[in-house]
Amino acid sequence: MTEIAIDEAAVAALTATVTGLVAVPGEDGYEKECATYNPLTPLRPALVIGAASGRDVAAAIRFASAHGLPVAVTTTGHQARGADGAVLINLRRLNRVTVDRDALTARIGGGARWADVLAATTPFGLAPVNGSAPDVGATGYLLGGGQSPTLGRLHGYGADTVTSVEIVTAGGLPQRVTAESDPDLFFAIRGGKGNFGVVTATEIALFPVARFYGGAVHVAGADAATLLHAWREWAPALPDEATTSVAIQRLPPDPALPEPLRGAFVVALRFAHIGDAAEGAELFAPMRAVVPLLADDVCDRPYAEVGLIHGDPPGPLPYTDRTV
Ligand SMILES: Cc1cc2nc3c(=O)[nH]c(=O)nc-3n(C[C@H](O)[C@H](O)[C@H](O)COP(=O)(O)OP(=O)(O)OC[C@H]3O[C@@H](n4cnc5c(N)ncnc54)[C@H](O)[C@@H]3O)c2cc1C
Repeated sequence: MTEIAIDEAAVAALTATVTGLVAVPGEDGYEKECATYNPLTPLRPALVIGAASGRDVAAAIRFASAHGLPVAVTTTGHQARGADGAVLINLRRLNRVTVDRDALTARIGGGARWADVLAATTPFGLAPVNGSAPDVGATGYLLGGGQSPTLGRLHGYGADTVTSVEIVTAGGLPQRVTAESDPDLFFAIRGGKGNFGVVTATEIALFPVARFYGGAVHVAGADAATLLHAWREWAPALPDEATTSVAIQRLPPDPALPEPLRGAFVVALRFAHIGDAAEGAELFAPMRAVVPLLADDVCDRPYAEVGLIHGDPPGPLPYTDRTV
C-alpha cells in the first residue's frame, strides 16, 4: 500500500461538503467502502468517498485534482483494481432506477446492480440487455461493452443500448452527454470503461421481453469432448433469438449444490431462447441427447430469473485469477 499524507483540514472541508461518507485508512467505514467481491484483495486508497449524489462525485474529483491524486471508481468491487494511493469513489449508494414504460427506457444510477435494474423493469414485462450476473454493476458492464447471455444476438452490445450518460469528467463538472451533444465523448465512454470520467447515471433502451426458455444442463467433465464436438456442430445453426455458452467448472464442495454437482468436475451448457417456449425446447432437444445429464435446469422462466442461466455465486468469494 502506498502511504500518502493528506492534509487533515482539507479532508475535514471535503467531509463538510459531501453528503455521503468520507474516510481515510483506519477510520470507520473505510474497510466497508474498500471491500471488493474478493475478500483477499480489498482496495487501499488514500481516501474513500461513498458518494450519495452526483455533486459528491464532482467534489471528490475536484479534491483529487487539487491534491494531484489519481481517481479510482467502484460500485460492486467485482473488478476494481489499482486504487492504491488514489481517491476512491464508491458509487453503490447511487442505485436508483426509474422506468419509462411508454418510451421503453430506464434511467440507471451509476451504482445500480443488474438486480436493481431487473427489479424495476421486469414487473412491466421489459428487459435490458443485461449481463449474466444480477450481482454485477450495470454501469461497469455497459461501459465495458456488455455482452448479454440473452439479448446480445438480437440487440447488440449493452453499450449500444445507452442513449445518454451523466458523467463527471476530470474538470469536476457534471454533464449529460448524448450522441448529439458530444459525439466523441459519447463514443469513447461506451467501451472506454472508467477512463473518461465517473458515470453517475445512464439512460438505456428496454425491450418487451417478459419470459425466456433457458437455464443450464450439467454433464460430467469426462464427457466434455463428446459434448463440445456436438455443441460446435449445433450452435452455429441457432437463430439470433437463441444464445448458448459453455463453462468447464470444478465446483466447490458446497452443501448448497445438489449432490451430483457438489465438488464435481463438470461442464455447464447454457442456453437461452427469446420466444415461444415450445420452439426453445425443440431447438435445445438435440443437446439433451448427446451424453447423460447430471442436472437439467433448462425450462420456461420469467425474465427476472435470467441470473439462473449462469448461476454465478452472489456475494463475496475468495479466489485468485490471472490473465495472460
Ligand atoms: C460474475 C460475473 C459475471 C459477469 N458476466 C458478464 C456478462 O455476462 N457480460 C459482460 O459483458 N460482462 C460480464 N462480467 C464482467 C463485468 O461486466 C465487469 O467486470 C464490470 O466491470 C463489473 O462492474 P462492477 O461495477 O460490478 O465492478 P467494479 O469492480 O465495482 O467496477 C469495475 C470497473 O468498472 C468501471 N466502473 C464501474 N462503475 C463505474 C461508473 N459508474 N463510472 C465509471 N466507471 C465505472 C471502473 O473502471 C471500475 O474500476 C461479469 C463479471 C462477473 C464478476
